Amino acid sequence: MNLEAFVLGCGGMMPLPNRHLTSLLLRREGDLFLFDAGEGTQVSLRRLNLRWKKISAIFISHTHADHVTGLPGLLMLSSQVDRDEPLYIYGPPRIAEYIESSRRVLDMYINYEIIIRETSEAGICHQEADFQVRTFPLRHTKTCYGYALEEHARPGEFNPARALELGVPRGPLWSRLQAGESVQSDSGTMVEPSAVLGPARSGRKVSFVTDSLYFPEIAAEVAGSDLFVCEGMFEHALLDSAVEKKHMTAVQAAMLARDAGGVKQLALIHYSPRYTEYDLKRVLDEAREIFPATILSRDRMQLPLEYVD
Ligand SMILES: [Zn+2]
Ligand SMILES: [Zn+2]
Repeated sequence: MNLEAFVLGCGGMMPLPNRHLTSLLLRREGDLFLFDAGEGTQVSLRRLNLRWKKISAIFISHTHADHVTGLPGLLMLSSQVDRDEPLYIYGPPRIAEYIESSRRVLDMYINYEIIIRETSEAGICHQEADFQVRTFPLRHTKTCYGYALEEHARPGEFNPARALELGVPRGPLWSRLQAGESVQSDSGTMVEPSAVLGPARSGRKVSFVTDSLYFPEIAAEVAGSDLFVCEGMFEHALLDSAVEKKHMTAVQAAMLARDAGGVKQLALIHYSPRYTEYDLKRVLDEAREIFPATILSRDRMQLPLEYVD
């Protein structure tokens, strides 16, 4: 099962010539899931040759312009695409009003169903057969949510030798055991899946946290993330300014990654436009002192996520 992340934009506040506004895309077995849609999202999608039509759900953190101004253009672009599945959009209060008013004023005639769900509390907002997306509140100047895509645990490894020993021949019975069903052996006894499967293996997890004041409880929400994408808007010398504007420093993002436990990689995002590419190296170095597995996300960066067991 392929899972990979694409950074569509890594900037905060305003777009720069080489830095679109914040947007992250996850591709799982060909299905696309978009997290925020800042200005420039369409350009990155096109340059990465990712098909808009494959986006099945969009998750919006909050209704600040640098996170949502790409959305009307995306919907407009796709107004006449041929799709059977509805498009789900999740976000904070007033996201429906924003989308509906854009559709009305811009005269968009969209020929597929859009289902908008405003998030009002923490919990699972989107559920599919083998993964879910969970939302949790952040602390910003307006209502803002973080998201975590979590795959369900996978069955343990199948032990073919043990199955043969127990009298279950190779063939469809093996598939049934692997799917968690009990089957009857050649001698008529029932064989439970637990007899031939190892311990359950964990699924993968990707978390997306922007924009927020630092508070330590975020760590529990992002624990065990294979990829933790978190705002690192400022260097730590500007901590007072970050606190005042309800943003985080890269060092604080790294503290969350360290304290969460089980985070494999931290990708910083949503940089202040004050930082040149050169300055960002300094911001990265500060974060790496706290959490070495930190990288700077860049527009159109592709991050594959492998199973660990
Ligand atoms: Zn922002
Ligand atoms: Zn904001």
